[in-house]
Amino acid sequence: MIPSGLEKWNLNMNHGNGGADKKIGLMGGTFDPIHHGHLVTAESVYENLALDRIVFVPAGDPPHKQDSSVTAAQHRLRMVEIATASNSHFFISDIEVQREGPSYTIDTVEYYRCCYTDDTDIYFITGVDAVVQIPQWKNSDGLFELCEIVAATRPGYPTKNFFRFRDQLPAHQRQSLRMLAVPALSISSADLRQRVSEDRSIKYLVPEGVEQYIEEHGLYKSSRSNAIRVSFFE
Ligand code: ATP
Ligand code: MG
Repeated sequence: MIPSGLEKWNLNMNHGNGGADKKIGLMGGTFDPIHHGHLVTAESVYENLALDRIVFVPAGDPPHKQDSSVTAAQHRLRMVEIATASNSHFFISDIEVQREGPSYTIDTVEYYRCCYTDDTDIYFITGVDAVVQIPQWKNSDGLFELCEIVAATRPGYPTKNFFRFRDQLPAHQRQSLRMLAVPALSISSADLRQRVSEDRSIKYLVPEGVEQYIEEHGLYKSSRSNAIRVSFFE
């Protein structure tokens, strides 16, 4: 399923040259599809926190999106691959797609925590919209212990909500959470899916290769016709 021999995919089991990493960023998401908001956020965190690499981890079966259909993982992975191809410090992991059952962030972070030695810091990157949901996630206490959570600003999601959320957390969890201002791009995957279904342009909102991929595979054309839970991609 996964293209072989690609450096970008080496992150799951043996980290390529990643063994020497001191700071890695994990960027979780459904990426249905990936867009410039995700990419600018990841690059901004990479630069601001002086990370060694960012690993994009597309969700396999997102627990919070059970009621809606999600595009086949193979398409979403391929679009992440296309979007990150030109960035040498962006990597991709299919760990959540390969794992059976719902994708839980704690399982992913535990996996990476085990792969690296204790002197490597793990940063879990999320938007301020998603961060406030974390207490509802599986073993959220463990997540705060295993990594630092970086909440990126996002247009439409006032930072005051983030600060209210942060202030309610116990002190030891507050220490593992920070907000980072990133260039504001008011782009969402939901809006992109809507645009495509209405034959409206998504040019300049996603990388050109992603736009072409969506077109070639007829994604998002009609009401979730590519959204299936079993893989059919070849
Ligand atoms: P959807 O509309 O389907 O929820 P999305 O655009 O929110 O899609 P996700 O895959 O849900 O994309 O997001 C992955 C992560 O990226 C989340 O933590 C989300 O908060 C963050 N994110 C998404 N878009 C932006 C953006 N434009 N700016 C900052 N963060 C973003
Ligand atoms: Mg979202």
